[in-house]
Formats: sequence, C-alpha cells, structure tokens
Amino acid sequence: MTIAIYPGSFDPITYGHIDVATRAARLFAKLIIGVYETPGKPLLFSLEERLEMARRALTDVPNIEVRSFSDLTVDFARRVKAQAMVRGLRVSADFEMEFDMAMMNSRLYPELELVCFMASPEYQFLSSSLMKEVAKLGGNISGLVPEHVAEALRKKKGVNKM
Ligand code: ADP
Repeated sequence: MTIAIYPGSFDPITYGHIDVATRAARLFAKLIIGVYETPGKPLLFSLEERLEMARRALTDVPNIEVRSFSDLTVDFARRVKAQAMVRGLRVSADFEMEFDMAMMNSRLYPELELVCFMASPEYQFLSSSLMKEVAKLGGNISGLVPEHVAEALRKKKGVNKM
C-alpha cells in the first residue's frame, strides 16, 4: 500500500489545498496531511487551529489523515512510512522553490518520490497568504475556503484587528 504525505503550513487550509488533497487521495492508499508546526513564516493560526480546520475540511475523505510534525519533512515521511510526498504547483509561484526543496529532500531521503499536482485553473491564484490579506481587509472569501475556515478568519479579524 502506497502511503503519501502532503506537508505544508495550511495557515489556513483553502480549497486549493483541498483540491490537491482529494485528487491525491484517489491515487494513494493513504494520504497523510502533515501540518508543519513552525514554518519560517509568520502564522495567523495556532497549530491546533490549523489541524482542526484541516481535519474538518477533509472529514469526508476516509483515506486522509491529518497530523502535525515539527522536524524535517523527510523524517516525518520516514516515521509514517511514506513512499511519496505530494505538493501542489501553481503557474509561476511554486516551481523554483519546489525544485530546490526537492533536490535537498532527495539527498536526505532518496527513496521518497515527489509527486506534484498542477493546481486546478480555478485555484491557480489562491494562496493562504492572499486569503489572509483579503479577509483582513473585509473582502469576500466565500468559495475560496470552507465556511468554517471563513468563520475562523472573521473571528481572528475581530480578535486581532488583523
Ligand atoms: P508551505 O508553507 O509548505 O508552502 P502551504 O500551506 O502554503 O505550505 O502549501 C502547501 C502546499 O500546497 C504547497 O505545495 C503549495 O504549493 C500547495 N498549494 C497552496 N495553494 C495551492 C493552490 N491554490 N492550488 C494548488 N496547490 C496549492
């Protein structure tokens, strides 16, 4: 059985991530979403909040599991016995960074195969950071994130005066 991980910050999870995850779950026996605890970028949501939002968003897909990790992605992959790593690629934003990361990861864990999914056309422009920016300024984010995520973004805005 082929196990894949789909690592990321998921701050918060968007329909772009959900699209990639559900497509990947059709290909692999099990897909483990790895929510990275401390990415090197400012976070809006705590680890627990990011986990909870991702779990709720993907609760209907039985072969998806959501876990956190705080070490190297390749060590997380080894620990959960994954043979593949899934990432999403948007037109111009992602390729160079993904390529560099893939080169490094293949040195650290050559057996881990990288599988990239092209972002669906309707989500090409969608990123968590853009999402947070639009939400902060009171823009309409429906159709881009599930309702429970939109609600969490609205609440953060109230609490943090984002
Ligand atoms: P990271 O901090 O690792 O980039 P993200 O949560 O931003 O974590 O993204 C996780 C993965 O999902 C990355 O491979 C990213 O390119 C991909 N991704 C993000 N948004 C989209 C989208 N709209 N469509 C497809 N893939 C996406």
